[in-house]
Amino acid sequence: MSQEWQAGRLDSDLQGVGFDTLAVRAGQHRSPEGEHSEAIYPTSSYVFRTAADAAARFAGEVPGNVYSRYTNPTVRAFEERIAALEGAEQAVATSSGMSAILAMVMSLCSGGDHVLVSRSVFGSTISLFEKYLKRFGVQVDYVPLADLDAWSAAFKPNTKLLFVESPSNPLAELVDIRALAEIAHSKGALLAVDNCFCTPALQQPLKLGADIVMHSATKYIDGQGRSMGGVVAGKAELMKEVVGFLRTAGPTLSPFNAWIFLKGLETLRVRMQAHCASAQQLAEWLEQQPGVEQVYYSGLPSHPQHELAKRQQSAFGAVVSFEVKGGKEAAWRFIDATRVISITTNLGDTKTTIAHPATTSHGRLTPAERASAGIRDNLIRVAVGLEDLADLQADLARGLAAL
Ligand SMILES: *Cc1c(COP(=O)(O)O)cnc(C)c1O
Repeated sequence: MSQEWQAGRLDSDLQGVGFDTLAVRAGQHRSPEGEHSEAIYPTSSYVFRTAADAAARFAGEVPGNVYSRYTNPTVRAFEERIAALEGAEQAVATSSGMSAILAMVMSLCSGGDHVLVSRSVFGSTISLFEKYLKRFGVQVDYVPLADLDAWSAAFKPNTKLLFVESPSNPLAELVDIRALAEIAHSKGALLAVDNCFCTPALQQPLKLGADIVMHSATKYIDGQGRSMGGVVAGKAELMKEVVGFLRTAGPTLSPFNAWIFLKGLETLRVRMQAHCASAQQLAEWLEQQPGVEQVYYSGLPSHPQHELAKRQQSAFGAVVSFEVKGGKEAAWRFIDATRVISITTNLGDTKTTIAHPATTSHGRLTPAERASAGIRDNLIRVAVGLEDLADLQADLARGLAAL
């Protein structure tokens, strides 16, 4: 039997191979049909040969699928591939980025535990902590992302978990992940990093010392705005807890979405490279425009953490935020004058998007909370896609002309 037709696991020869080879091949299992692209397994349950076989699989004495809320072959292939890319012992897929965060906190924290969260995290993450997890006795405090002294000072004896997004949205602030991991570990806490904006193609937080990494796969891992999903990854001992919560509570990933993410991962690094190259060009160009007061992009030497970004990430990401001259009305006129770019808050898509954070993603914050998060009324966020750079620049020029 030639290896082309070999059924079964195919990634046993992937020791020591590079990122792109893992992105294309890790986690693949081939059925006896010999399919080259990964198969989708849309099944809720699995049959057993005998009653004794069913009992052994339910007891976990024999490996194998039992029910797709527990395991599914397509989902497992995605989990194994993302674990390989993040350098994690194990990854667990979820139905969305938010359910990844929920599963992580529910499985690792209890009522009475204290969690430190970076101030500039995703809006729904703040709501999850404030409106729901606090109701179950999880204590939460917020810390300015970049300020290591503030992190050290915020610890309490019951601090269990630190949760950060680096780089942050929309202002592209960073934290030194290696230094923060050392602080967390010296106090017996875990560090979790939402790596959605970088993806493992640009940053691998576990290799910098973080304990847990999470993604909204909805963004760059899909990369084409088609499906919702998420993932949590880290040491097997921690993931065992996350798996337990997910199997019981149920926000697991569908095999169809897992398949889309497998395909997304295969092109992840080349897409990220193209996204980042255009973002860099547009950020440099925007910085020179008289209508623009300030550009927030860590690839610019003017960014206060440019050196850290160079050290910690292999590229600077594709989200470019900037403040225009004027207030909310000017920002809205800019946005409305674009013709190619989509007005939407999503990101991580081939299609470039533009949004006004103060009245969308951060609209539910009070003016004081917005001010403390640094979100001004003249701020615009562009998530750079894969269209021709010249067309994107022309579109932003329409915005500038409308100021
Ligand atoms: C979108 C996003 C999430 C939430 O992911 P969903 O897939 O929308 O649930 C979490 N964190 C960050 C940084 C995000 O951008």
